Amino acid sequence: RRPARPHRDLIYPQDAPPCRHKLGPSIRIMQWNILAQALGEGKDGFIRCPLEALNWSERKYLILEEILTHRPDIVCLQEVDHYHDTFQPIMASLGYHGSFLAKPWSPCLDVEQNNGPDGCALFYSRSRFSLQTTLHLRLSAMMLPTNQVAIVQILNCQLTSKQLCVAVTHLKARSGWERVRSAQGANLLQSLRSITSRSRGSNVRSSGTNPLVVCGDFNAEPSEDVYRRFRSSPLGLDSAYKLLSADRQTEPPYTTWKIRPTGESCSTLDYIWYTHDSLSVDCLLDIPTEEQIGPDRLPSFHYPSDHLSLLCDISFKEAP
Ligand code: NDP
Ligand code: CA
Repeated sequence: RRPARPHRDLIYPQDAPPCRHKLGPSIRIMQWNILAQALGEGKDGFIRCPLEALNWSERKYLILEEILTHRPDIVCLQEVDHYHDTFQPIMASLGYHGSFLAKPWSPCLDVEQNNGPDGCALFYSRSRFSLQTTLHLRLSAMMLPTNQVAIVQILNCQLTSKQLCVAVTHLKARSGWERVRSAQGANLLQSLRSITSRSRGSNVRSSGTNPLVVCGDFNAEPSEDVYRRFRSSPLGLDSAYKLLSADRQTEPPYTTWKIRPTGESCSTLDYIWYTHDSLSVDCLLDIPTEEQIGPDRLPSFHYPSDHLSLLCDISFKEAP
């Protein structure tokens, strides 16, 4: 029998400053690198994961189960190589609008019998939001175009009439590429500054910051330059998952944990950034324990990706 999917509680951070100016019900956001089917079967070399646990015919249901368990209002995914044949139609039938942007030269295309390129996907609940703008960005680094992309959308919240800008990205992987990641992050931040300032319009009072959420697999530990760039950007971003820690300043110990022929890799690479002046985090989905993840790490029969899903509820802060 299959082991059960790890149970994860929603944590309401203690001693969270009471937000007296919360506007409307919270917005649930999911960030998840779902592991491209072609990479998982053909390139990653997860030596402790049985190949049968990677069968797409079953694994897709575990991915959808994770999404349906939490019913996020916004779903940000990386490594999507089954958008058109799976996620687009199924998510549409569940009430979501979807947008997909493939990587220009996806490594999936090198795998025999691939299902097309992988890329980023962004879904929002049509009952909660209407779409104002979609931007498909190819990230550059030191003026040169790269193989990494981002989707940015400006959404109008139907319940509060507030605007929310959401971005999803997947930065360059592997060690030795820290400077490229940093430059890609700088490029994305620059684009977001120009997009959010334009979307405000000239007749909007310019107090506070434009509500913005950036979800991604940054492929960077918190010690990397790209993390520091996001933390110190003029957009006023903070990382939601720090709120799970006792001091509220520390990222979780891992967001991905896998075993390759080169060894075990347990690291924090995935983030949900939010503008702390205009948004507050109400709760976050806890990180499974080492015991829940199990000795063979991820992916596994009970968890379909090598990256954990991140999930939090955020609210608009009403201007005081
Ligand atoms: P990245 O280095 O960003 O990584 C691509 C994927 O590989 C990521 O999804 C990453 O997962 C995963 N990955 C990270 N570390 C490892 C590892 N140690 N072993 C196996 N997989 C890993 O790739 P780029 O986007 O820069 O693309 C480079 C690739 O693109 C080349 O490998 C080449 O195969 C391919 N390419 C294909 C071309 C074509 O014509 N088809 C042309 C040019 C390039 P995660 O983010 O989860 O860490
Ligand atoms: Ca991967």
